[in-house]
Order: sequence, then C-alpha cells, then structure tokens
Amino acid sequence: MRRSNPAFFTPQAGLLRGVYHRAALRADPLARNDEAAFAASNESLRMTDEPDAKLVELGRKLFAGEWTFIWASPSIETLPPMAGVEVAFAGRSNVGKSSLINALTGRNALARTSHTPGRTQELIFFEGPDNAGFRLVDMPGYGYASAPKAKVASWTMLIHKFLQGRASLARVYVLIDGRHGLKEVDLDVLNTLDKSAVSYQVVLTKADQVKAAELEQRVADVKTALAKHPAAFPEILVTSSRTGAGMPELRAAMVRLLGERS
Ligand code: GDP
Repeated sequence: MRRSNPAFFTPQAGLLRGVYHRAALRADPLARNDEAAFAASNESLRMTDEPDAKLVELGRKLFAGEWTFIWASPSIETLPPMAGVEVAFAGRSNVGKSSLINALTGRNALARTSHTPGRTQELIFFEGPDNAGFRLVDMPGYGYASAPKAKVASWTMLIHKFLQGRASLARVYVLIDGRHGLKEVDLDVLNTLDKSAVSYQVVLTKADQVKAAELEQRVADVKTALAKHPAAFPEILVTSSRTGAGMPELRAAMVRLLGERS
C-alpha cells in the first residue's frame, strides 16, 4: 500500500494545493445555502492554487448520489469484510467530523452530530452510490477531556489495529479544529498513522470561525508540525461544513484517490 502519491504534488495536479475555489464552491449546493458566511470566509481560505475543475466536477457527481449507513463495528473482530476503497475520518471529539461527513455527502444526518462523550466507540461505515465499492469510515472521536484512561487505551487499540490491517483503507483524513490547531492527542494519532501503511492528510475544520490572519498562521503551524511526519501529506485542506468551503476539493481528492486505486 502506498504511503504517499508523488503524482499528487506535480504542478499539473494542483488539487489539494487549492484549498478554496470560488467557482467550484458556487456549484456546491451546501455552499449556496450560506452565501453570507461564504463571503466572510472567502478571503481567509484563498491561500493556494485552484483545484482541478474536472476532478471537482467528478467529485460533485460522486457525492451527489445516495450515501447509506452499512455497518457499525465496536471492535476489530466485527469489522465488515474488506472491499473496495475505504477512506476514514479521524479527529478529536467535537472537531466537526460528523458535520463534515454530512456536508460531504449532502445528508443532514448521515453521521450523528454532537455525540455524547463516552458513547459507544464504533467505526461507522457508509457506502457510496450504486454499490460502487467506495466507503467512508467515521472513526470514533478521541480526546474527551473526561474520558477514562481505559477508554482512551481501547480507542487507541481499535484504531491502531484498524490502521495496521486494513488493505482496503486508502486514506485517513485527520480532522483538526481550525480554531485550536494540533493538540498533544492529535500528535499521538499522527504517530500511530506514521507506523501504519496508509497515507493520511490533515483537514482543518470550522474555518468559518477563524479570522483570516489567524487561519493563515494556523495552517503554517500545522505544516511545520507535519514536517516531522513524513507519512503525512505536507499540504492540508481548509474546510468549513457550515459554508461548504473546501468540500469540492476534498471530494475531488477522493475521486483522484479512487482513480489511483482502480
Ligand atoms: P464530531 O464530534 O467531531 O462529530 O463533531 P460534530 O460534527 O458533532 O460538531 C461538533 C460541533 O461543532 C457542533 O455543534 C457543530 O454544529 C459544530 N460544527 C461542526 N462543523 C462546523 C463548522 O464548519 N463551522 C462551525 N461554525 N461549527 C461547526
């Protein structure tokens, strides 16, 4: 399994270097829902090149289809059989992971938002349209301030085992709260990912809540930290589930990934 994709970083690719693209975003129904917030966050997110318009359109189409819940696994023993291409989302509790999955798929309640801390820690699998073999995996949130050590240990174990032994897992997106940046517990997860054979990328969330200059600094800080993690994509995605910012780019990135894996 590949750790990174050199083609991704060619000038032609230009995909995830573009964290924000107004034209693509305008075509995004979620973005159209919140034009005011869009305008507010627009400048703050225009930090890099434009994404590939063709991939953005393919991504829009892929995620416009019906996404459905297919499986929930509280343990490594109960995972669904490996199949197709899986993309997992990890992040601290309350980072906005459920909101991001819902925004990506255009479903208001596919992933459950605002989970109660301490709820059952499960890997949740969603399948894309037409049984085409593309799945999203909602990993259990980590880092509850009040979580008992045993719970943290059990999450770490589940995640570690999942990351180590899942050939169908093509990428992990590690969500980081754009308001707070990387925390110690996030770095632990990056270390775990470094030891796995799966490529991973950081996605900043809730960008609509952060002022432009602060966001720029946050991106720079995260990139500096990622330099110590060679298995990570050096570029990061900046998103807001509320405005739809970054969604076209994230969808496009997954289309690219599917292309590479098929
Ligand atoms: P999870 O625990 O990681 O699944 O996080 P949720 O998706 O449940 O989100 C946690 C809280 O953050 C909720 O109150 C969401 O409404 C809020 N939230 C999530 N994404 C965004 C975003 O992009 N912008 C803003 N302003 N709030 C968000």
